[in-house]
Amino acid sequence: MTNLPHFIQSPLLTGVAGVYHAFCGADPLPWRDGRTRLRRFFSIPPDSVGTLKQVHSALVFEMEDADAGNPDAGSREGDALWTDRAGRGVGIRTADCVPVLIAHRERPLAVAVHAGWRGLAEGIVPATIQALAARFGAGVFDGLIAAVGPCARGCCYEVGDEVAGALSPLPGGGAALRKGAVPGKWMADLLPVALAQLRAAGIAEARCDATGICTICDPRFHSYRRERSASLRQLSFIYLP
Ligand SMILES: [Zn+2]
Repeated sequence: MTNLPHFIQSPLLTGVAGVYHAFCGADPLPWRDGRTRLRRFFSIPPDSVGTLKQVHSALVFEMEDADAGNPDAGSREGDALWTDRAGRGVGIRTADCVPVLIAHRERPLAVAVHAGWRGLAEGIVPATIQALAARFGAGVFDGLIAAVGPCARGCCYEVGDEVAGALSPLPGGGAALRKGAVPGKWMADLLPVALAQLRAAGIAEARCDATGICTICDPRFHSYRRERSASLRQLSFIYLP
C-alpha cells in the first residue's frame, strides 16, 4: 500500500488500467465535506460518485444516478454498489467496518462494499461477487481484483459473545478471534474474515490486497470505537474516469 498523509491506495488496484481509487483517512481540513474533498483533492465530480444508506445488509445494487451527489450520505438502503459506466464511481463510508474496493483487469468495473461484522455475517461479500457473476457471467471471477482498506483489527477490537458468535462460523472466523482479558470478551480481527470471504467467493489470494491498518489505533483514520462519533467516517471510493 502507498502511504500518503490523508489517503492510502492499493498497488494492486492502482495497477488496473482505467480505475482510480482511494481509501481516505481523517481529513486534515475538517471543514471540507465529502463533495468538496472529492472535487478539490481528487478532481472527481461529486455528482458522479454514488453512495448508499448503509444498513449492515447483504443488499447489492448497480449504481443509479440518483445514488450520486452526496458522498457523506445516501438514500437507497444497501451495502454494496457497483458501476461499469465511464465517468461514474462508487463509494462507502466506514469507521472500523471494512471497506472493500473491487475492479476488473479487463472490463470497466468499480465496486464498493461496506462490511462490518454484521455485514460479514449477513454475507455481503459473497452476495456482491454473486451479483457480479449474475450480471457479467461466471467468467468475471478470473479478472476481479480486490483491496481491503483500514478496519478494526485484533490489536484493539474487543467484542462480546454476540459478535464473536457471528464471526466464528464464517470463513476466516477462527483465525480472527482470540480470547480477551476477561470471560465473555474476545479480540476480533475483521481483516482475515474479509479476505477469507473474498477467497471463498472466488478471488484468488494473489488478487487480493490489504492495507493492514487498524482504524482504532491509527489516528490517521476515523474509528467509531475511538471517537464515538455518529458522523466521522472515511470515504473509500473507486472511479472509472
Ligand atoms: Zn489496533
